[in-house]
Amino acid sequence: KSSEPSSVFAEGWLKRVYEEKPVSVRTRFPPEPNGFLHIGHAKAIAVNFGFAKHYNGVCFLRFDDTNPDAEKEIYFTAIKEMVHWLGFEPYKITHSSDHFDRLYNLAEDMIKKDKAYVCHCTKDEVNLQRGGRDNRGRRFACSHRERPIEESLTEFQAMRDGKYKAGEAHLRLKQSLTDPNEGNPQMWDLAAYRVIEKNHHHRTGDKWRIYPTYDFTHCLCDAFEEISHSLCTTEFYLSRTSYDWELEILDLKKPKSEEKGPMQREYGRLNVTGSILSKRRIAMLVKGATVEATGADGTITTKTIPPAVRGWDDPRLYTLVGIRRRGVPAEALLQFVSELGVTDALTTIQAARFEATIRRYLERNVPRLMLVLDPIKVIIEDLPPDHREDLNVPFDPKKPDGESRKVPLTQTLYIDRSDFREIDDPDFFRLTPGKIVGLLNVPFAIKATSFSKDSAGRVSEIKASKIEAEKPKAYIHWVSATSSKPVTARQYNTLFKCEEPNGLDWKTGGYTDDLNPESEIICKDAVIEEGLEQVMKGKEKVEGGSDELVRFQAVRTGYFAIDPEREGERVVLNQIVSLKEDAGK
Ligand code: ATP
Ligand code: MG
Ligand code: MG
Repeated sequence: KSSEPSSVFAEGWLKRVYEEKPVSVRTRFPPEPNGFLHIGHAKAIAVNFGFAKHYNGVCFLRFDDTNPDAEKEIYFTAIKEMVHWLGFEPYKITHSSDHFDRLYNLAEDMIKKDKAYVCHCTKDEVNLQRGGRDNRGRRFACSHRERPIEESLTEFQAMRDGKYKAGEAHLRLKQSLTDPNEGNPQMWDLAAYRVIEKNHHHRTGDKWRIYPTYDFTHCLCDAFEEISHSLCTTEFYLSRTSYDWELEILDLKKPKSEEKGPMQREYGRLNVTGSILSKRRIAMLVKGATVEATGADGTITTKTIPPAVRGWDDPRLYTLVGIRRRGVPAEALLQFVSELGVTDALTTIQAARFEATIRRYLERNVPRLMLVLDPIKVIIEDLPPDHREDLNVPFDPKKPDGESRKVPLTQTLYIDRSDFREIDDPDFFRLTPGKIVGLLNVPFAIKATSFSKDSAGRVSEIKASKIEAEKPKAYIHWVSATSSKPVTARQYNTLFKCEEPNGLDWKTGGYTDDLNPESEIICKDAVIEEGLEQVMKGKEKVEGGSDELVRFQAVRTGYFAIDPEREGERVVLNQIVSLKEDAGK
C-alpha cells in the first residue's frame, strides 16, 4: 500500500553496512513492549524494514520481553498496529521469551566454559568493583568470581528454583573486569540474569523467576533468528564488543570476522525539538503526577500535577498513536524519516522541518474545502433571501476537470472574524467598510456597507453589497450560513513554550510552568461546507475501511483530519499542520 520511501535504504550508511556483509538480509525491529512507540521508533522501523525490503530480505518484529515488571499486553497490540500502520508486514513476529529455555541452557554453557559466575554482591558493591562512580577507580574482582564452576552451576540452578530474592544473587559474565587495559565498561563483567520478584510474565506465566538481561539476550536472539544485520542506535556502540564476545564464546560467531553470525551496526537516534519521548515523562503528561519538592528550610512538600494532555494518543504528543490521531499520513512520516537519511550521527530535527514535510505531502494529496473557524454572518443584500446557486467547484484547483463538489451560494454567508476589520487600513485588503474583497469561487466581489455588534461589543453581522465591475485585490473563504455543517475544530501548537522541554525540571514538577496555554485551541463554532460529506463518502469507497482518516486542506487555514471520536453527531477536526510555516505563532 505504501509507496517505496525513496532510495535512502540503498545509499550512504546503509549501503556501506550492506557492503560489509553482502548476504541475504535478515533484520529485526526489537521494541521492548513497555510503552507506546514514538517518532524515534518510526526511524528504527523504517531503517530495519526498509533496509530488508530494499535488498529483498526479511524483517522480524521481535518483542524484547525480558522484563515482566514493565510489560503489558496493550503495548504488544499497539506496537503491532503501528508497524502495520507504517505499511510494513513483519516476516515473523517473535519474542525474546520464545527462547527462554534455550537462553537458560546457553547461560549454563557459559558457566561451564568458565565465562559466567553467580555473584551475591549488592548493586553498590558491583559499582565499586567496576571503578566506582564515573568508572574511574581501580577495578577489582569479588570472591565469587573465582568460585568453582560447579558451585556457580548449582547456585544458578538455585536462583532458577527460587532460593534467592531479587538482589541476592545474579549471574555475571566473566569478561575483562580485572584487566586494567580494558577500557570498555561493556566488558566489565556485565549482569546476564537476575531474579525478578514480580515475575509473572504475560507469555511464560510463573515459570521463571530469573530473567536474562538485554546484554545477554539480544545477540543470542539475533543468532537464533539468523539475523544478518542487527541495526541499533549509537548508544549501543560499546555493546558491539560484548555482543561479539558472547557469540564467539558460544561458537555462534567466528572471532574477528563477519563470516558467521549476526553483525551489529549503529545508526543515530532521531529526536525532534519540543518532543518528549521518555516514557516516564509522557506518562506524567498523560496521567499527571505527584512530585516532591524540598523547600529552602528542608521541608518536603508534595504537589499533585494534573494531566497536560488527554491521552497517549493526544495529537500534541510525538507518540506514533498521537501523530496518527493528529492526522499525519503514515507515508508522510516515512517520507520525513527517509529524507533525513541514515547516518551514525544523532539528529535533532526542528519540529518545523517535520511539519514542512507533512505539509508538502498533503499539498499534493488531499482535497480542498472551505472551513470557517470563527464565523461572522455576512448578508449580501443584493441577493434575495431564498437565493441559492450551486457553484461547481473542483476539489483541486489545479485539476479543474477533476472531481468537484457543489458549493451553495446563498444570501447569508459566514466569513472568518479575522477577515473583517471595522476600521479600514491601507494595508488591509479583506472585508472592511469601503473596500471590495473577492469571495473564493464566486463570480462577483462584495463590499461591506454596515455592521452591527452584539451586547458584548463583538461584531455579529455585516451587511454587504455585490460589486461586479471591479476586480478585487484579495479573496477570502466563506461558507453558506443556511447550507453548512457545524463542526468542532481543534488547532494545535507546541505543548511547551520552550524548544527543549527535556531540559525543564521534571523532578519536582517545574515543567508545568512552561506548558503552552495555547497548545490546543478549540473552535467550537466552526462551520464547514457540505462538501465534507462527499469527501467522507469518497474515502469510504476508496479505502473501504474506517481507520483511514479523512483529510483535507481548509483553504487559507490549514490541513485537517477528522478525529475518530465525535461529539454526539458533531464531527471533530484536528489540525494536522497550518497552511504556512509561521501561521499560528
Ligand atoms: P525509549 O526509551 O525512547 O522508548 P528504547 O530504546 O528503550 O527507547 P526500545 O523499545 O528498546 O526503546 O526500542 C526499539 C528499537 O528502537 C531499538 O532498536 C532502539 O534503538 C530504537 N529506537 C528507540 N528510540 C529511537 C530513536 N529516538 N531514534 C531511532 N531509533 C530509536
Ligand atoms: Mg524502550
Ligand atoms: Mg530499550
